[in-house]
Amino acid sequence: MAVPLLDLNAHHEPLKQEILAALEKTFRSNAFILGPDVGKLEERVAAYCQAMYGIGVTSGTDALLLALMALGVGPEDEVVTTPYSFFATAGVIVRLGAKPVLVDIDPTTYNIDPAKITSVLTDKTKAIIPVHLYGQCADMAPIMDIAKRHNLSVIEDAAQAIGSEHRDGRRACSMGTIGCLSFFPSKNLGCLGDGGMAITNDSELAERMRILRVHGSKPKYYHKVIGGNFRLDTIQAAVLNVKLNYLDGWTKRRQENAERYELLFRQSGLVERGKVRLPEAVYRSEGVKHYHIYNQFVLRVERRDALMEHLKQKGIGAEIYYPVPFHLQECFQCLGHKKGDFPESERAANETIAIPIYPELTPAQQMEVVEVITAFYG
Ligand SMILES: *Cc1c(COP(=O)(O)O)cnc(C)c1O
Repeated sequence: MAVPLLDLNAHHEPLKQEILAALEKTFRSNAFILGPDVGKLEERVAAYCQAMYGIGVTSGTDALLLALMALGVGPEDEVVTTPYSFFATAGVIVRLGAKPVLVDIDPTTYNIDPAKITSVLTDKTKAIIPVHLYGQCADMAPIMDIAKRHNLSVIEDAAQAIGSEHRDGRRACSMGTIGCLSFFPSKNLGCLGDGGMAITNDSELAERMRILRVHGSKPKYYHKVIGGNFRLDTIQAAVLNVKLNYLDGWTKRRQENAERYELLFRQSGLVERGKVRLPEAVYRSEGVKHYHIYNQFVLRVERRDALMEHLKQKGIGAEIYYPVPFHLQECFQCLGHKKGDFPESERAANETIAIPIYPELTPAQQMEVVEVITAFYG
């Protein structure tokens, strides 16, 4: 039995009529740029994130770029972030002429290690970008403490973590200065193309981002600042207004799938034999509903590359997120790093593999995945 990494057909089929009806309504309205669909989505997503304002944008990448622009980050500035994330997290910093200052990750959560942040701060540091990788929040309490003490902004890269809750039940995007979401189709709330949103509780920053989103134009055709075209497509907002109604149910099923994997992997003996290490939901406790939203279910395994090859041959979808940490990317050689500088990120890049966790995954498919992995280790 083949098991894909993600099954968007299964995901969208039950919503097909509802989504097509929403699309037809937008089609007939001819209101293709911003408008009520985008405004409604912004309010709903901000509320879902326990925050005040949402600014719908072209992508998660542009949400990050817009956030940094609104905070005035530019040449000479330094922004602290993790070496282990999707490229955009660091790419946006460099695009604005600023310097990414990297801090290694915690080996359990794969998120930035707050204990290592203070030592890299300088008088040029403007912001910290923690990433809530795979759907679990970075350890925000100490990060916010450091930010407060050093007068820094915090941009949460929550592209993989919509609704994910920290220790006290506070949701991603509600804790930092600005939170950034992606609606890329493989994220937990995905649209039918590219989309993203910047979230904030700061009304001034919200207004600045709304202006920067339309080339810095306010009033129309008068520009006090230079922005870009960062508008979320109205068609995508219409789709997302339908899909948002189902997000909690999908998150629940991802969590149930994670629990089933835990059971199956323990039964397989692979955990005990040290072949496979399961992801840990460190905020799991009474009262924290979305302790992890499992955008990805990432194992740390022995002989990772060979396992990847084996899974491919057996028709099991798997992926490596991410094989090359930022400091070893060719385009970031200018940062002057070398192999060994961020050992936990390098280890994670070499040892981890994501297996299917999507909401529509069946118990039989999960059994198949675990059986194929068990057979590999013999
Ligand atoms: C997906 C992702 C982004 C970028 O989002 P896009 O919508 O693809 O531009 C940024 N950061 C992280 C951690 C992501 O996973």
